[in-house]
Amino acid sequence: MARWLAVLLVLCVIGLAADGYAVVPKARLTGVRFLSSANYTRVILDLTGRVKFTINTLAASPKRRLPPRIYMDLVGARLTARRHRVDVKDRLVQRIRLGQFKENVVRVVLDLKYPGNHDAVLLANPHRLMVDVERRGGSGDRGQLAVRKIVLDPGHGGKDPGAVGAGGLREKDVVLRVARKLAPLLRRRMGADVVLTRNTDVFIPLKGRTAMANAEQADLFLSIHANASHNRRAGGLETYYLDKTTDEATMKLAARENGTARRNLTDLQIMLSDLKLNVYLPDSISLASHLQSSLVKTTRPHYSRAKDLGVKKGLFYVLVGARMPAALAELFFVSNRREARALKRPEFQNAIAGGLFQGIKNYADRLRERGNP
Ligand SMILES: [Zn+2]
Repeated sequence: MARWLAVLLVLCVIGLAADGYAVVPKARLTGVRFLSSANYTRVILDLTGRVKFTINTLAASPKRRLPPRIYMDLVGARLTARRHRVDVKDRLVQRIRLGQFKENVVRVVLDLKYPGNHDAVLLANPHRLMVDVERRGGSGDRGQLAVRKIVLDPGHGGKDPGAVGAGGLREKDVVLRVARKLAPLLRRRMGADVVLTRNTDVFIPLKGRTAMANAEQADLFLSIHANASHNRRAGGLETYYLDKTTDEATMKLAARENGTARRNLTDLQIMLSDLKLNVYLPDSISLASHLQSSLVKTTRPHYSRAKDLGVKKGLFYVLVGARMPAALAELFFVSNRREARALKRPEFQNAIAGGLFQGIKNYADRLRERGNP
């Protein structure tokens, strides 16, 4: 009996020590930076370790002479930054204020000029909290009613061939050809402004691709890829939008497309779980669905075995950070001999481009209907 009591006592002491430890801030907030662009303000809080955070908005309080605000509480953080008040004075944010709110909580307040939407992400290596603020009803809401500018992203390129399949067919070559066929269709038949992330066989890092779409203020981002599998009989079409997933096959595909080991995906999982606001998710799902169904429809007459693998969610780096509805299409399997042979044929590439065009067109028409009910 006495022995059990002793064990219990030890457990209690360990428990207390663990609790006590949890209160001690593990990360220091060492500084704050910001970046002003025409459409949003990005605030970066530099940290020395992981924290938890909450983010909230507050309406203006004329009585207390307070502007609209966004405030974040960083739990497990200690404030060591030298400046506790940073004047921003751009189109949207007046200033950033920092304070040690509680022993282990740093509060960061953004004083705004207008009510704003926010989007926050915790990043590691180095640790930082990145917050984007956009004016409510501003450019962020614009793309949801019209598709004027489209960024097409043929995957891979240059030193990165993508998947290499039957007969040496390279993913980077097929997707570039399809993108070059799709661009004029969108220009001529939709009057869209089309930009390609690459028009030749060059290497572009994944981050640079959405950055380009953001800089162009595009209304739609489409990344174009071809699939591959160890199972040579695997074949078909599938379209993705960005979201968390636990599906094993999708995680393997994303790891290949991301060019990273699978374990690195957990980083991305964590990052996405911290995204409080993904305003483009419903439109991205709609875009992916329209693309998938018209791809199946237009390619089947040319290739009766075209298998509909469906619309799926996956963690693709190339879609992270897109400030517009975005999707990624996997156009057949280069590892499948029959599909590789079809993919080489210009008529079949035309059919695929036609399917992608019709999918984008249907999606845009649906948006327009929503805008003019
Ligand atoms: Zn790819």
